[in-house]
Amino acid sequence: MAILILAEHAEGRLDEATRRTATAARSLNGDIHVLVMAGDAHAETLSQQAASIEGIAHVWCATAPHLEAQLTEDTAAQAQAVLERGGYRYALMSSSYLGKRLMPYLAALRGTDLVTDVTKIETEDTFVRPVYAGSLLVVERLKSAVKLLTVRANAFSPAGVQTAAQAAAPIETVPPLPPKQAVRLVERRSEQSSRPELSRARIVIGCGLGVGKKDMPAVEKLADKLNAAIGVSRAVVEEETASSDYLLGQTGKIIAPELYIALGISGAVQHLAGVKDSKVIVAVNKDPNAPIFQIADYGIVGDVAEVVPELVGLL
Ligand SMILES: Cc1cc2nc3c(=O)[nH]c(=O)nc-3n(C[C@H](O)[C@H](O)[C@H](O)COP(=O)(O)OP(=O)(O)OC[C@H]3O[C@@H](n4cnc5c(N)ncnc54)[C@H](O)[C@@H]3O)c2cc1C
Repeated sequence: MAILILAEHAEGRLDEATRRTATAARSLNGDIHVLVMAGDAHAETLSQQAASIEGIAHVWCATAPHLEAQLTEDTAAQAQAVLERGGYRYALMSSSYLGKRLMPYLAALRGTDLVTDVTKIETEDTFVRPVYAGSLLVVERLKSAVKLLTVRANAFSPAGVQTAAQAAAPIETVPPLPPKQAVRLVERRSEQSSRPELSRARIVIGCGLGVGKKDMPAVEKLADKLNAAIGVSRAVVEEETASSDYLLGQTGKIIAPELYIALGISGAVQHLAGVKDSKVIVAVNKDPNAPIFQIADYGIVGDVAEVVPELVGLL
């Protein structure tokens, strides 16, 4: 009984989340296949990248100009056709922006069960997921014959990549479905930034309400020296000094970098839900009783305005 992973990609590069999802899929019993849905320009390279992931037995490639836009209506319909044709028992994707959109849509099309944000696969039908900002873990059992899962990518290590081309999985094309006319992509805008993307950065600096506008030049210098991404708490987003694209936490991005530096962040449970899996946490806060210190590996009780320039001076 095979398992289908829906590949995630951008600009011709397979997202690491797909390799992490492949690791999750290995806890299930069955051959692991990947479905790549992409425009003509990148479909072949993406399929090759998917075929070289360790443990992948087969790659399906659906390519058509309209699949370039990765609209939910088109990709879900395409995935549903492949699910049905292959008689798959599982479909998996990470709990990314794409996964959060596509998988519920696919579950509705397929008329089957979906479990989201899985951090552990206990048995072939039992899955663990955090709730209440990670304060509780829920064990869910899905009874449906076809089970859809979104997995928290950070909870699984990335599957390896085969270097020898002959070891790669076979790639087969599937006929693309015609585009759904209901929705069309008008424009895609991305913010130009020289900094690493938040969910991929090895080092992330989080700024809370304790970071004033006047402190930002020093924070940016620190980020430059560390090649770090900068995220924010929800209080900062609510003040409209940063966009929700940079929000860390339960309602924002969930990250697990090697180092997370929390500046002027109190450490509310909803914020911690997004950063607590960081390997090392450093907190700077002028309040020694701030909850962030309870999960910090290293804490500096002090004013951001003084501590950050000192840190920059040390690097
Ligand atoms: C349903 C729901 C979902 C939520 N989701 C999220 C989420 O996803 N992400 C998120 O972040 N929040 C979320 N929140 C909000 C969360 O509860 C907190 O309100 C928020 O995280 C607080 O942000 P903060 O730590 O920046 O601000 P504050 O709580 O105001 O803390 C500011 C901290 O800065 C310190 N400080 C002040 N000045 C300085 C200085 N000069 N130097 C050093 N330290 C200083 C203070 O001691 C304080 O600890 C959610 C809330 C709800 C109800």
